[in-house]
Amino acid sequence: MSIKENLIDIKKTFIDPNCLLVAVSKTHPEEAIMEAYQAGIRDFGENKVQELVEKAEKLPKDIRWHMIGHLQRNKVKYMAGFVHLIHGVDSLKLLKEINKQAIKADRTINCLLQVHIAEEESKFGFDEAELMEMLEDEVLPTLKNVKIIGLMGMATFTEDEEQVLREFESLQSLFEKMKKMDLPDNFDLKELSMGMSGDYLLAQSKGSTMVRIGSAIFGERDYK
Ligand SMILES: *Cc1c(COP(=O)(O)O)cnc(C)c1O
Repeated sequence: MSIKENLIDIKKTFIDPNCLLVAVSKTHPEEAIMEAYQAGIRDFGENKVQELVEKAEKLPKDIRWHMIGHLQRNKVKYMAGFVHLIHGVDSLKLLKEINKQAIKADRTINCLLQVHIAEEESKFGFDEAELMEMLEDEVLPTLKNVKIIGLMGMATFTEDEEQVLREFESLQSLFEKMKKMDLPDNFDLKELSMGMSGDYLLAQSKGSTMVRIGSAIFGERDYK
């Protein structure tokens, strides 16, 4: 199966045809990205800043680059000039740094707050209490060069669909709850980034607006 065929097959299964497909191209070469590009994909996700920057330099300028991985503060500067959306914002400190670099780049950077919904300890993100606490912080409304456009989460890696559905549902209800809150002007909540190769249909059934799909498009990753 070619990348193009994979993309067509995946799109056919979508419950929500308006859900954005972010093609997760981490570890895959530029030729693979170009194959997806030629099939019409413009949104690509990477989880390492260096790899993202290198690919962005070489590939077409109309690609929208999504930073989907855990982001270290000292690396924000390398991509602040062009990144389309940062999915994994998991602290106010990181958000402050993104704001600082966005000012330098003279732009506004769109961000998603990552929420910890999985059972596994290792996954990053705010829990609900931490998130509510951050929303009270008086620094938050002053960060005028970031725009928080939604939430992102990763479900537990398990065969138990009921559990995965419960986790996605918890993110969806937090999203709906926050939309009703009186939030600072740098919030414009509309995106819910959840769902990967193994669970994107479950995520769409719980209101995902953006799925991050890698291996189902490009094949298994070889980490070497
Ligand atoms: C790698 C990755 C994905 C894609 O995973 P697949 O299972 O290959 O679809 C999605 N989201 C994040 C945050 C990732 O790191």
